[in-house]
Amino acid sequence: MRIGVSKIESFLTVGLMSDDDRRSAVLEEMISQLGLDYEWISNGDIKYPAVIIDTVARFESARRHVDSDDAIVVAEKVCDIKSIYSLLSGMRQHTHDAITPVVNIEERKLMDIIRAVFTRQGLPLVYKPLWPGGHDICVVLTHDVDWLAYNGMHRVVFHGSLDFRRALPLAFKSLLRGTNLGWNIPELTELENKYNTKSTFFFKTRYDTNSELLAKSIGIVKESGSEVALHASYDSHVSGGSLSRQIEFLESISGKEIKGVRHHILKTKPPDTWKIEAAEGLSYDATFAYNRFFGFRAGSCLPYHPFGEIRLPIIELPTSFMDWTALHRNIRGEKFFRSIEQVLDVVNEYGGVFVVNFHNTYMNGETFPDVVSAYERFLQKVTTQNSWVATASQCVEWWSTRESTPLRAKLNRDGTIEVGTALLTPLVESTHRFQVNVVRNGQD
Ligand SMILES: [Zn+2]
Repeated sequence: MRIGVSKIESFLTVGLMSDDDRRSAVLEEMISQLGLDYEWISNGDIKYPAVIIDTVARFESARRHVDSDDAIVVAEKVCDIKSIYSLLSGMRQHTHDAITPVVNIEERKLMDIIRAVFTRQGLPLVYKPLWPGGHDICVVLTHDVDWLAYNGMHRVVFHGSLDFRRALPLAFKSLLRGTNLGWNIPELTELENKYNTKSTFFFKTRYDTNSELLAKSIGIVKESGSEVALHASYDSHVSGGSLSRQIEFLESISGKEIKGVRHHILKTKPPDTWKIEAAEGLSYDATFAYNRFFGFRAGSCLPYHPFGEIRLPIIELPTSFMDWTALHRNIRGEKFFRSIEQVLDVVNEYGGVFVVNFHNTYMNGETFPDVVSAYERFLQKVTTQNSWVATASQCVEWWSTRESTPLRAKLNRDGTIEVGTALLTPLVESTHRFQVNVVRNGQD
């Protein structure tokens, strides 16, 4: 039951109005990422502390849902709605790094206006935390497993701009001793365990090597507590049948449900790929990034629901740093680490998720010493700052819970703020002092 906003008891939910699919998708995604409780206004005379409308054309109909006109926020006047739609539906093409999180910047503008509306009424702004446990950012470590083996003569070694004088002795050594320089999965999980972190390995379903090595690798990953996900190949970004067969195959080896996918060489066809993945029951995709550029292809450093004609159920984890990108651009040595830090700075500023992709192929101290040392420095850095290092599926599970759990925040007569969920610890911004009282009402 809802009651009108009054000076003595107020529900702190914002109302949304739009009758256009695309603009509705944008409004809902922005408000959801900001962590505000919202309701779509359909009819009646229910009043809200703030009503957000997509266009100015809806101003008249919004008036009866607020006490005063200045509680109506016209989104198109504050944010570039068209640009956000185009970014989150995957239609924007960049020709350079995309480090600036354009969508999150637009969201901050909207949040500033909503904050001002609440402040004018003397109401506290109550919203959901971005990450659990009071963490500032989330870090998701991922590995695309393109190869299970290579010797020193393999093309990845030479394509990795390795110094030829170093490469040749390595090539002979690996040929003579039969050393596999490209597997590195035991060393990688050991390194991550040293920092008490888990990661997500994206496995293909077919490799040149024998299938026992795939089963063995998956066993090691499971043993270490990390996640097994699918590195889909061939035409599965446009074929549900192919994707489905690969999921089934990998599940039969790992014995666990596969929750997410990253397509090989980041092949994607928006929005079809997202729709196919959702139809196959996957929770997340981690493909939508550039091979050649760093940063946020869709302009968001937070997980998001991409758009087709409407907001799609799948969650995209925005991969924003890949080792291959740096190697391909000959960013080596100290510069390699600085290119990671450049993206991390943005994630820190916006409280985002930093999804990094390091291929097992390059995690070899003999062939790619700078990559291995940069990865270890990165682990050191994020585990000493206030980061939540999660697997891809843990991150997505939290994100889904966060968005599907309303705070049901209410300001009581006695000045306490009541929150109707025990799952989320709310954040409260106010010019007054309020006491936050989380009520466990058994509805979670
Ligand atoms: Zn790949």
